[in-house]
Order: sequence, then C-alpha cells, then structure tokens
Amino acid sequence: MSSVDTAILTAEETAAFRAQCRAFLEAHATGASGHDQRHEDRGAAMMEGARAFQQKLAEAGLAGLMYPTDVGGAGLSRAHDRIWREEYAAFPDMTSELTISHGMCLPVLNDFGTPEQKEQFLADNISGKKVWCQLFSEPGAGSDVASLQTKAERDGDEWIINGQKVWTTLAHLSDYGVVLARTNPDAPKHAGISMFIVDMRDPSVEIRAIHQIDGGKHFNEVFFTDTRVPASWLLGELNNGWNQATAMLMYERVAIGTGSSSGVTHPNADRLIEHARRTGQISDPVVRQHLMQMYMEETTKSLVSMRTRAEMKAGRAPGPGGSLGKLHGAKIARMMRNLINEVLGADVMAWESGDKVEQWSKSIVGSFAANIAGGTDEIQLNIIGDRVLGLPREPAVDRDVSFKDLKVGTVR
Ligand SMILES: Cc1cc2nc3c(=O)[nH]c(=O)nc-3n(C[C@H](O)[C@H](O)[C@H](O)COP(=O)(O)OP(=O)(O)OC[C@H]3O[C@@H](n4cnc5c(N)ncnc54)[C@H](O)[C@@H]3O)c2cc1C
Repeated sequence: MSSVDTAILTAEETAAFRAQCRAFLEAHATGASGHDQRHEDRGAAMMEGARAFQQKLAEAGLAGLMYPTDVGGAGLSRAHDRIWREEYAAFPDMTSELTISHGMCLPVLNDFGTPEQKEQFLADNISGKKVWCQLFSEPGAGSDVASLQTKAERDGDEWIINGQKVWTTLAHLSDYGVVLARTNPDAPKHAGISMFIVDMRDPSVEIRAIHQIDGGKHFNEVFFTDTRVPASWLLGELNNGWNQATAMLMYERVAIGTGSSSGVTHPNADRLIEHARRTGQISDPVVRQHLMQMYMEETTKSLVSMRTRAEMKAGRAPGPGGSLGKLHGAKIARMMRNLINEVLGADVMAWESGDKVEQWSKSIVGSFAANIAGGTDEIQLNIIGDRVLGLPREPAVDRDVSFKDLKVGTVR
C-alpha cells in the first residue's frame, strides 16, 4: 500500500470519483447477495455474494483501492479511499465475509510477504478469487496465543506442520490460511514462533465444523497432520512470528472495530427506532431514552473509527488504539441485545424458524461473540491499560523461560 500519500483531488476529480463509486454501489450493493441468509448453516451463500461483489469491484478498477496496480490493486490515493468509504456507508455491507481475508490477511501479506509471495497471492486475494483465513487460536491458547503448541519442523525444502487450531472462522470456505506454529521450542514462548502460508485444500488439513447456539456453523476446528508447506511459504522472518501476529491482531481490531465504511452511521439505532415507530413504543419515554443512548454510542464509535482510519492512512501502522474501537463495538453489542429485548419483548425469547422475530433473536444469541472474537474485552482492557494509558504491565513469570519447560494450555 502506498505508505504516505498526500494526493489532493480537485473538486472536479472528487465529484467524478464520487459519482463513479455511487453508480457502482447503486448497481451492485443491492444487499440481496445472500445477506438475507446471514444465519444460514455454513455461510456459503453470503460468501458467494461477497466474492461476486468483489469480482465486480475488481472489474471496475475499484478493488484494493490503495494497493499498487502491479499486485492487483487500484493504485489510488487515500483521498479516493475516503470517498469510497463515505459512499459505501449509505449501502448494505456486501463484503463482511471477506473481513478476515481483506482486513487482516491482505495487509499482513503486503507488510511481510516476499516479492514472490506478493506476486503469487495478492491479486487473487484482492479480487476475492481466493479467500484467506486466520489460524491462531488453539484449545490451550486463545488470549495467551503465544502458548500455542502447533509445531513446524523443517524437512529439506519444506516445513511439516502438526497440531490443532480452533474457532477458525470460515476455514471451510477458505483457499489459504495464515498459520502460527512453533519453530523453536527451546526459546521463550514469544520468541520461537513463526508464521506460514498454508493451503486449506490440502488433504492433510482436516476441517471440522463447530455448531453455534444460533444454528450456524461458521467456524471450525482445524487439524494439521504432517501438512507440508514449501519453505518459501514462511511469512516474514523465522522465529519472528510473534511480532507479525501482533501486527495482524492490530489490523484485526481495526477491521472489527471500524468496519468497511466511513462517516457517521448508527445502523442498530436506526433499525430499532424504525421498529419502535411501527409499534408505537416510540412514545414511551424510557424506550426513547435507551434508543437515544444507542444512537449516541454508535455516533461516537463512528467518529473514533474515522480517527483510527485517518491515522492509518497517514502512514501509521494501527496501534493499540484499535482496541478502543473493538471494545466499543462489544459494548454496543451488549446494549443492543438489552434493547432488542426491551423493544421486542417476550417474542424474542422463544421463536420458531420462519418467525418474524427470528433474525432479532439470532442477533441476541450471536451478539456474545463480540465480547470474545478478535480478543476478549478483558484483553482489550489490558492492552489499553498497558499501551495507551501507560499503566504497569501484568506480571509475566514465564516470559524468559524456555517454552519446552512450561506447562501451558493443554499440557499436563
Ligand atoms: C466469533 C468468533 C470468531 C473467531 N474467529 C477466529 C479465527 O478466525 N481465528 C482464530 O485464530 N481465532 C478465532 N477466534 C478465537 C478468539 O480469538 C478466542 O476465542 C479469544 O482470543 C479468546 O480465547 P479463548 O476462547 O481461548 O478464551 P480464554 O483465553 O481461555 O479466556 C477465558 C476468559 O479468561 C479471560 N482472560 C484470559 N486471560 C486474561 C488476562 N490476562 N487478564 C484478564 N482476563 C483474562 C478472558 O477474557 C475470558 O473471559 C474466534 C472467536 C469467536 C468468538
């Protein structure tokens, strides 16, 4: 991505690009591409919709706006990117299923990939032709992901990966993954980890669905049994995977916390206000007050997200401040489920498939993920305490101990 670009568009250029974005969105961001099936079993319809939209974007020269044209991007400036996000804010989000592929895997490939890796993988990632997933969490390593036990051992020109990952979102619909594995068990736990690219379609990669409370099966357990990857698929430096993982987690918090559009939006408040108007509850002063609180929280979150995005576009890598947006999103999810209960009443407690309230009910049960995915609320608070407010760090007794001498996660 162009690091610091200061391109300023003329009024005519701004108007022309805005019109181009709007015409594209009016034609293609119809919201019909599987979005009515948000809670469908394995998410395949929404993924197909997202890929088709992304393909159209690529054909129109609007995919990967700030990535160079030689790796499949549009080679445009941050001024163009801002206009695109502002226009996109008025349309349904068509590409939420590509959040991990584009919001996390793509910037990490771009930041740490070799020229050969970029040439091989970036264009197909940007166009949505190939989808990527993130394989960090393990049964004994979630918040403390540096305790991971999946290992990679060198064998000639290849690495052999063995181990288990868990909660891997959309692994079953992904072509490639970014996986963390231990490459030096003698080093302290943060120092012996490396990052690899892995082919999710390889027969040695077993993907098992996890059943969610809302009926979906969007994430998975993933088992690697003697999975071979070429030595050239090491991503970044050997045993430096922790630094890259930290960068990816920061991109993740920004992707989750700020979304794909820009400008002030309050989608949850809008939906609930519309419902309260229809049912007459809008005249209840307590309901009105709670709806207004939601409106204010979402407005504030939009403004903070705009600041985070502006910092990134000014050439700064996302910092720990991304945790603020992530934490705020989790707070809004919590408020939202209380408000849905208040406005829709007992109907959302017990529903049957096809009921009018089904989507609202599923939003309630699904909302708990916001407090966990991308790092739990407690971990965001720790990050904000340590790195934003400068408070003393949590004590870490295992920081300098060789990993092989630790009893971590599932090790007994
Ligand atoms: C919807 C969803 C999608 C996900 N997708 C992916 C994915 O694509 N790829 C992937 O790799 N992972 C994914 N995850 C996994 C996610 O990153 C982990 O669930 C998360 O990091 C928490 O880890 P854990 O589940 O092991 O919980 P634990 O780490 O065991 O935490 C349990 C509890 O202890 C608390 N806790 C732990 N450590 C501390 C501490 N130091 N201080 C205070 N409290 C603490 C936590 O806050 C939590 O309440 C996903 C999770 C969800 C819910």
